[in-house]
Amino acid sequence: MKLSQIFQSLKARNSPTRVTLQQYGTLFATYLGPQWPRVCFMALLLIGSIMLDLLGPQIIRAFIDTIQSNRSMQVLSIIALFYLGVALGSRLVAAFATYFSEDVGWNATNRLRADLTRHCLSLDRSFHAAHTPGELLERVDSNVETLAYFFSQFVIRILGSGILMLGILVLIACENIWFGAILGAYLIMSNIIFFYVQQRATSIYQLHWQAEAELSGFWGELFHGLEDIAASGAGRYIMRRYFHLQRRENSTEIKSIVFWAGFECTGLILDVLSLLIVLILSASLFVQDMISLGTLVLLLTYTTQLLNHALDIAEQLGSLQQATASIERINEIYHTQSCVQDGLGVTFPTGALALTFQGVSFSYEAEQTVLHDISFQLAAGEVVGLIGRTGSGKTTLMRLLMRFYDPTSGSVYLGGHDLRQAHLDDLRARIGLVTQEVQLFQGTLRDNLTFFADTIPDQRILEAIEQLGMSTWYERLPEGLDTELSSDGGGLSAGEAQLLACIRVFLQDPQLIILDEATSRLDPATEKALTQATQRLIAGRTALVIAHRLSTVEHVDHIMVLDDGRILEYNTRATLACDPTSYYSKLLRMTNPKEMLA
Ligand code: ATP
Ligand code: MG
Repeated sequence: MKLSQIFQSLKARNSPTRVTLQQYGTLFATYLGPQWPRVCFMALLLIGSIMLDLLGPQIIRAFIDTIQSNRSMQVLSIIALFYLGVALGSRLVAAFATYFSEDVGWNATNRLRADLTRHCLSLDRSFHAAHTPGELLERVDSNVETLAYFFSQFVIRILGSGILMLGILVLIACENIWFGAILGAYLIMSNIIFFYVQQRATSIYQLHWQAEAELSGFWGELFHGLEDIAASGAGRYIMRRYFHLQRRENSTEIKSIVFWAGFECTGLILDVLSLLIVLILSASLFVQDMISLGTLVLLLTYTTQLLNHALDIAEQLGSLQQATASIERINEIYHTQSCVQDGLGVTFPTGALALTFQGVSFSYEAEQTVLHDISFQLAAGEVVGLIGRTGSGKTTLMRLLMRFYDPTSGSVYLGGHDLRQAHLDDLRARIGLVTQEVQLFQGTLRDNLTFFADTIPDQRILEAIEQLGMSTWYERLPEGLDTELSSDGGGLSAGEAQLLACIRVFLQDPQLIILDEATSRLDPATEKALTQATQRLIAGRTALVIAHRLSTVEHVDHIMVLDDGRILEYNTRATLACDPTSYYSKLLRMTNPKEMLA
């Protein structure tokens, strides 16, 4: 079953985010099911450690009763050694059980994290616009981490404590039935009370995590825009926002801590009370000679064990509430379906691909139409230069072509197929994109060029650099392909980052190229290198070149001028250049060719 289906099934009928018992079962089955041999082994270890725990007080009773009866040092030494063996064995088995439970828990959450990451990758741009990277990080990492504990500790401790308590109750009842009955009733009552008190905890935890996620989101934005913040002197305002978010995070955290402390306190008071009752009861039985001193110690030890485990179970139920809050937050992401649905798949022709826009209109938000009825055709291997004022919709056109969004009306065809019918991965692998903002990753130049794919040999990368005429640039790099770059720009200028993106695309060998030219002014040498590289990159392929300089579109076949989301003119470059009334020819006359358009 796919994860999205599982989480779909996690959605209860009346309340969209409440998680039911059966749904926990589905989650366990999906993530613990594949590890069943380990889970079984873990359960065996657990049972072993419980048996040893139950045996301990019995040995102590035998020891005390032996002291009182025959006082044989030999027997006492054997009992003491036996006790030592049992205690050591119990710790050893418990350690192994913990190791396996951690292992099982981490395996389960690693799979969950991978599924969640995959799902986030598949969601469209509008989802990512609505959630900051920091917030997503919080959900994919912190909330899933809470589940690690749930998967590993919850099973082992709830099951372990439950079985152990049952065993102790049976053993106590064997000694004295009334004793057993009173303790049993007390435990059932206290756990019911705890369970209902904790029901309230989910909303408290949720508020706290929401505040934490917002703070993480704020930090994500802060570090991303550090340069702009410093340049505009906005530090003071940013700190004010930080204090506001931190204050909220603190107050929600205090609430959850206070809730937890109150809960533990109540548990301890109840424990002291019950221990007192047991002390009085067992002392009166001993005074009446109904039990031996050994049995008295046995009863007290078992009662202490019983209460410790009852508290443990109550705490585990608390962690269940935390897990529920986490599942609900993860759930929210899974209920978000991408507006861009994957197609059934088509067979694209080989070589350069023809491109058709047919009556395409688009709006990011309902009220504001960004593209109006765009229609044009580009034969395979042709290059169109796209020019227009800033905000005229050039990048939006590119986003539709990459299917980051789908048109509100109309269709886009590539190689004769409607984009909506193609597999998204297949479609995007056929389109090479060089954007205005090139994202670099923490890693070497090689990693940044190949997107960490180690199947591309260095020789091919060097050939691509050579073919794009960038050897001079490459030779200036201190450590060649091993030069370390960082995600904040890595010491590359905007132009150099675009050069790097050109090599990326060249290695990808796509059938259609989209080039969204950098708006920043480049130094003449970099600009020359970039123009040369893009010329070689688009040779023999269909291309859409979004240009901010007229020099960039000097060699294209067609020119399209966009104005406020409409095609102002679209024709061959030669025709538009010769037509004195065209916008393009006016631009040519008015503008120094090197001048920026936008
Ligand atoms: P530039 O030359 O500055 O790169 P552009 O022609 O590429 O501009 P677009 O980025 O396509 O312009 O934007 C077209 C319009 O769509 C603008 O009015 C912009 O405000 C709006 N827009 C762009 N991205 C979004 C978004 N994610 N959500 C809402 N509106 C958007
Ligand atoms: Mg743009």
